[in-house]
Amino acid sequence: MVNGKVNLLGLDVDALTAQCDEWGQKAFRALQLSQWIHQRGCADFEQMTNLAKSFRARLEETACVVAPPVIADRIATDGTRKWLFDVGDGNAVETVFIPETGRGTLCVSSQAGCAVKCSFCSTGRQGFARNLRVDEIIGQLWYANHALGQYERVGTCSTDRAITNVVFMGMGEPLQNYAATLSALRLMIDDHAYGLSRRRVTVSTSGVVPMIDRLREDCPVSLAISLHAPDDQLRDQLVPLNRKYPLAELLAACRRYLADAPRDFVTFEYVMLDGVNDSDAQAHALLRLVGDLPCKFNLIPFNPVPGSGLKKSSPVRVQAFAQVLGDEGIITTVRKTRGDDIDAACGQLAGEVRDRTRSITIKELVR
Ligand code: SAH
Ligand code: SF4
Repeated sequence: MVNGKVNLLGLDVDALTAQCDEWGQKAFRALQLSQWIHQRGCADFEQMTNLAKSFRARLEETACVVAPPVIADRIATDGTRKWLFDVGDGNAVETVFIPETGRGTLCVSSQAGCAVKCSFCSTGRQGFARNLRVDEIIGQLWYANHALGQYERVGTCSTDRAITNVVFMGMGEPLQNYAATLSALRLMIDDHAYGLSRRRVTVSTSGVVPMIDRLREDCPVSLAISLHAPDDQLRDQLVPLNRKYPLAELLAACRRYLADAPRDFVTFEYVMLDGVNDSDAQAHALLRLVGDLPCKFNLIPFNPVPGSGLKKSSPVRVQAFAQVLGDEGIITTVRKTRGDDIDAACGQLAGEVRDRTRSITIKELVR
C-alpha cells in the first residue's frame, strides 16, 4: 500500500487475477495489466489503452505502480552499475547490474540487513532490519529495466535484453523471506511478466534446509549454496545457521533439489579466507564432502569487511585451491571482482549509508 493505494508491483499474476476479480474484471485483464507494468514498464494507467476507460479510472483511484526511491546510482569503470534504494526508517538496500558479453546479470536484495550474521559479511554485520515486500524486490528489477533503457526498446527491432539473469545475491537471506521471494520469482519467470528462464534465475542461500525443499516444490529455479567450509566445526563459526542445519542435512537437501531443478547441478559459493578455509587439505575435505553430488564451485575473493579480523586469500592460494577441485573434474570458477571502485561488493555501500545515517539523514546523502 502506498497512500492507501495497492502497489501492483507487489502482486504476482495469481494475486493480480484475484485483485481484478475483486474489481469485477475478467482474468485476462490481469494478463494485460501485467504486460503493461512488467514488460512495458508503464506506471501510468491512462496509457493502458486496451483497458476500458472506467477501469482505468478505478485503477487511478485505488492502485499504483511504484518502485522504492533511489538514493544513489553509481557506475564503475568496468560498467558495473549499482543502485541504492531507500526502504524507509534509515534502511537502504542495494542492487547491482553486471554486464558481460552476451548477458547481463542483476543482483537483487531480499531483506534489509540479514539475521544469519555470517562473520565475513557486511550485510550480516549490520544486523536484521526487516523483510522486503514483493513490490520492493520486483521494484529493483522494474527500476533497473527502466534505468538500462530496456523499456524504450519495447516495440523496436532490438530483441536484446539488458537483464538476462537475476541472482538473489544482494542483501539478505531470500529463504528467510520465503513468501515474498516466491512471489517475486514467479513474476520473474512468468511469460506475462519478465519471462526469464528458470535456469537464469538463481536463489543463493546460506542453507535454510526446509525452505530449499519448499522451493523445489513451489518454484524450482537455479540454486546456489553458500558453503564456505568443508566441515561443521568451521562452518558453525562462519555461517551460524549451520548450527541449526548442519552440512549433512544441507547436502541431502541439495540432492533432493536436483531431482526437480531446472539445472542438473548445484553451485557452491565459497569465499576464500586467508588461513581459515583455503588450504589444500580443506579442498580435499570438500571433495569428500560433496562426493558424487553434481556441482560446480564458484570461489569468491573476499571483500574485506572492517572489524571482521579476516583477510583475503592470495591469488596464488586461490588458484591452487581451484586446481585441487578441478583435478577431480569439478568445474571451478574464480569470481572476478567487479565494480571495485564503487564498493559493489555485497552489503558494502548500504553499510556505509547505515553507519552514516546514525548521525545524518538519508537525504543529505543524495548526490
Ligand atoms: N544470503 C544469501 C544471499 C546473499 S549473500 C547467501 O548467503 O547465499 C551472496 C553471496 O555473497 C554469498 O555467497 C555470500 O557468502 C557472499 N559474500 C558475503 N559477504 C562477502 C564478502 N565480504 N566478500 C565476498 N563475498 C561475500
Ligand atoms: Fe546473510 Fe548471506 Fe550475508 Fe550470510 S552471507 S549474513 S546469509 S546475506
